[in-house]
Parts: sequence; structure tokens; C-alpha cells
Amino acid sequence: MREYRFELALCGTLEDGERLLARQLGAHVHGRRIADVVALDPGPEFEQRAAITDGTIPPAAIESPVGPGQARPLRDVFPDRRPDERHRIADRAVEAGFFESERRHGDRYVRQVTRYPDAWFDRLVGIENKPDLDRPGDLQTQLRTDVSLGLFDEVILATASHVTGAHRNRLPEEVGIWRFDPDTGEREVLKEPTSLSTDEWGLEVIEREPGQAAVQPVDPAAKSRARRRLAERAHGKGWRTFAWPACTRCDPDGAEAAPAVPYCAYHDRIVNPVEDCGEACPGHEPADPSAVDVEAVRDSRSIWVHDPAGRQRRQVGLDRFG
Ligand code: SF4
Repeated sequence: MREYRFELALCGTLEDGERLLARQLGAHVHGRRIADVVALDPGPEFEQRAAITDGTIPPAAIESPVGPGQARPLRDVFPDRRPDERHRIADRAVEAGFFESERRHGDRYVRQVTRYPDAWFDRLVGIENKPDLDRPGDLQTQLRTDVSLGLFDEVILATASHVTGAHRNRLPEEVGIWRFDPDTGEREVLKEPTSLSTDEWGLEVIEREPGQAAVQPVDPAAKSRARRRLAERAHGKGWRTFAWPACTRCDPDGAEAAPAVPYCAYHDRIVNPVEDCGEACPGHEPADPSAVDVEAVRDSRSIWVHDPAGRQRRQVGLDRFG
């Protein structure tokens, strides 16, 4: 079974009004781990965060020594960055409604428009999809890395396979296991995950070769920054990151497990538009891509807020003085 189809169906099933979901996000500090799915539970300050922007606030801007009070010269804010990088980060932070920027005597100054609400997210759950456990690939290393690093509060393996005792024995004890049917959207919890220590030192596997592994300790502050980066990316990216097939056979609401996905009526399954679609496909019938408003769908089906009112007010204000 193809992982892409499995992943979209799982995201569609998990999406609800209590969490945020995103796909394919970097979940590392020094390494290169990419998590299949990240589920974010909101914290007490979620509304304040959602009111700033529906996108990602640049982590470098959040981590910078800029407060909501006095404006600071940009070169003092990012002293170790090249001038073009400083301006790029500031531009993105202004665009996100997090910084304000002004010129004084030819220099650019920035200040925060609003306090960053640190407690906007609570738990982060990492989900690794492996529909077919007989083709595990790097599964063991990936899950061991996740568990020993501890960026996620919980780590879960999702599979369509029958899970045997031998499979379980190869997984770290802390990993939860779900069995998921991407056709029906049915999900069975075979094993609950154990909560990980996200505020203690972690050990990150950087490189693994037969017989040896390079690991690096990660301190709690670095983990905290990496978690916030992950949460910000999840907020801005979401999981419907695909382009719609330019084909009449695409029916965005045809899949039982997930709405607004590239379901193909010809193949009777969710397809990967990049790999499956095009003139080489026997069912291909050219048409304009579906005009689904995925942001409206995400807004209505999750806690994410599209185009928040605070941002609209700021844009109106900017227009007035533009
Ligand atoms: S191109 Fe093929 S796979 Fe893609 S939607 Fe059309 S029939 Fe389905």
C-alpha cells in the first residue's frame, strides 16, 4: 500500500476541532529527521497565537532580543546574520504581523507588535506511517531517534498491517501503535504510547551506519526551541499541501476517510498527483484542477483560524497609510 494515500487518509480522519495537523515536518535539532505527521494540541494561549497570523512566525524573530517596547536597530537584533538574511527575517516577521519596522536616519529598526504567547501549544504527537510492516525501511532507527531525543510528547506508529509480537519487540517500548484502514478510516489503538520527557536532556541520533551510530546530546533549551519551531511550522503548513490533479476523475470529496483530498474516481483511491497523474495515466481526462478552498476547509474542520481578525485590522491600517 502506498504511504501517501495512507497518510492523507489518516490526516483526514484525525482532523477535528481540538487539534492541528501537519505533514512532513523537520523534527530534529542537529539531525535530519522528517516526521510524517505532527498532531498539535492547543495550549491556554492558542487564541492569542491564532490572532497574530494564520501562517508561521519566523522562529528567528521569536528568539531574537526584540520586545514589544522600544524599537531596536535590525543589525543589533541579528548581529550574526548577513544583512540580506536580517532583512529577510524581518520582512517575514512584519508580513506575519509580529514585527513592526521603521526607518531612522537610514537604519532599519524593528519591534514586536505583540507579545509572543509561549503557552499556545501543549502536546506535540509525532506519527510515523508505515502501512506495510514487512517493508519497514528505517523504521526502527526513526522511532529510536524520536524516543531518545524526546521532542514529541508521544510517538506513534500507524500501520495497516497485522501487528505481530515480533513487530512489537522491534519497536521502542514507549511507542504507541495504531492500526488504520485508509479505505474506511477505521482506527484501532493497539497500544497506548508512553509520554516522553520533553523538558529533559535528549540524545539525538545524527548518523547511523551498520555497527555504529553518531549521537549528540541535546539540552532542554535547544529542545524547547526545536519544539516551538516545529509547532510554528505545523501551524503555518497544515497537511493539504498537494496540488490538485488537472483531471475530471478527481473527486475531492470522494474518499470515505478524508474530505478535500485528491481522490481519484477512476482508480477508486486517493492518489499522489505528482506520481500518479498526467497523460501517462489511462484514466486521465484533462480538466482544470479542482477549485477547493483548502484554507476554508482547514478553518472549518480544525482549530486553525484562517485570516484572523487582528491581521485584517492591521492590513486595513497599513492600506490607510500606504
Ligand atoms: S490522472 Fe489518472 S490518477 Fe490522476 S485523477 Fe486522473 S485518472 Fe486519476
